[in-house]
Amino acid sequence: MGHIIVLDENTSNKIAAGEVVEKPASVVKELVENSIDAGATSISVDIKNGGISYIKVTDNGSGMDEDDVEIAFERHATSKIKRAEDLDSISTMGFRGEALASIAAVSSVELQTRAAGNTYGMYVHISGGTLREVRQTGCPVGTTFIIRDLFYNTPARYKFLKKDSTEAGYISDTISRIALGNPEISFKLTSGKALLLHTPGNNDVKSAIYSIYGKEIIKELIEVGYQDEKYKITGYIGKPEAARANRNYQSLYINRRYVKSKMVSYAVEQAYTSILMKNKFPFFVLNIELNPLLVDANVSPAKTEVRFAEESYLSRAIYMAVSKALSSDTLFNPVTVP
Ligand code: ADP
Ligand code: MG
Repeated sequence: MGHIIVLDENTSNKIAAGEVVEKPASVVKELVENSIDAGATSISVDIKNGGISYIKVTDNGSGMDEDDVEIAFERHATSKIKRAEDLDSISTMGFRGEALASIAAVSSVELQTRAAGNTYGMYVHISGGTLREVRQTGCPVGTTFIIRDLFYNTPARYKFLKKDSTEAGYISDTISRIALGNPEISFKLTSGKALLLHTPGNNDVKSAIYSIYGKEIIKELIEVGYQDEKYKITGYIGKPEAARANRNYQSLYINRRYVKSKMVSYAVEQAYTSILMKNKFPFFVLNIELNPLLVDANVSPAKTEVRFAEESYLSRAIYMAVSKALSSDTLFNPVTVP
């Protein structure tokens, strides 16, 4: 008698959820990215208890068809890629088809959605991976997800949640980063009556920076515009006097997707070496446009980790882009070298 069994779907979804859904902010990230992929121009998020008891995400995107609302919660169910070759040229935020299955495995999920052109919408309720209700409903075009009681059935994970205010902070940071990379979309975050964040969605990165970091930083920004055969680098860097004590104020986007890269931070910082004191880190919001073949986003489930082909060439391009911006600024406004 053998000992090995294939796990049932519910169990394997719960295991997968362990990777995709680490905290309330991961749920927000996945849902907001889905809204972006659905072409939304306005995305609102409302939370209670730092998202632990309640997260509501509403978008005015494409909505979902009646035929899609149940299958969307199956693992590896996606409308964004069709075959393995598509992985080489991903232009959407999502592609793994894991988020909804994972979230639904470890919480209670209500979905209300209507596709443009349909006269009615759909309501779906799933909790702990089990379908509770599906029916037609009246609702506006677009999609609303309500997630309740995250990790209610995974006590080990629930235990690791932080204070409500800490989790709310992670959510605010998550939305801020996404908003800075998608200035054409208006983002709003509320926690009950408190408005935590609201960007205008007027397609101006500077306005998004203003909404998120306040008016002080605006005077201290230098625009970056650089292009060579392979890379287009745009956005804003901070003047040396806007430097901070850590790297939390650095936001990097690859083809508008927020990612983290030490290599890029170092390349930017190199351009500042002669004008910044040690342990000071420049502010930046930079987007690098490149051929998707030159970057691999499929490294980690959260997709914030990326691998670049031709690292040293890219690093050089970033250094040049930032140096050029810094020197154009100092022409008008000389900085004193400490
Ligand atoms: P992925 O984003 O990797 O495709 P998800 O599990 O996040 O996987 O979502 C599954 C599918 O559900 C998506 O491919 C999309 O077709 C649909 N979907 C999810 N959220 C939305 C939304 N806000 N608006 C429209 N469709 C959505
Ligand atoms: Mg997704």
